Amino acid sequence: MYLYNKTKIYIVQGDITKMEVDVIVNAANNTLLGGGGVDGAIHRAGGPTILEQCKKIGGCPTGEARITTAGNMPSKYVIHAVGPIYKDGRSNEESLLYNAYYNSLKLAKEYELKTVAFPAISTGAYGYPKNEAADVATKAVMDFIDKENFIEEVHFVLFSQDNFDIYKEILDNKFKG
Ligand code: ADP
Repeated sequence: MYLYNKTKIYIVQGDITKMEVDVIVNAANNTLLGGGGVDGAIHRAGGPTILEQCKKIGGCPTGEARITTAGNMPSKYVIHAVGPIYKDGRSNEESLLYNAYYNSLKLAKEYELKTVAFPAISTGAYGYPKNEAADVATKAVMDFIDKENFIEEVHFVLFSQDNFDIYKEILDNKFKG
């Protein structure tokens, strides 16, 4: 655990659908109609009520986020955030990924959700280099904590060992000395 201002930041290796937090974030796509990877896992674990709500919302632009309940999962809500498809690193990917994290936290605050779990958005099918994505994710979260001072716990839930090791190195570095 890392303590940043009053917010606890955790890195966890595992499956985000199992997290007992107020809200888990999904790495969704623009349609919000489900997909592979973490998106598929969330819809399978949460059940059909999530897809029903997503259909009513009707989609989400890249860099933004929308909220549904969490169905059968232990969390209360799911924030569906849309990260960018990585193209060449010069197509606005960094700010779109940053916004996906930042807007998720804004939405969490709006709904008074104090404990949040994130996956490594865009680092699967969307091909964002994992090191760079982790830099952006940790920066966006810490910037939000600096400005908004509301969230009590942020859990970065990494499915793969390599992503876990990357986050650990970045956070150890940010917090040393
Ligand atoms: P994207 O399309 O945004 O790249 P993916 O779901 O393909 O989304 O991958 C995002 C990240 O989520 C990847 O690092 C992948 O390993 C991870 N992931 C896949 N399943 C889960 C899960 N059940 N819990 C947490 N992370 C997961």
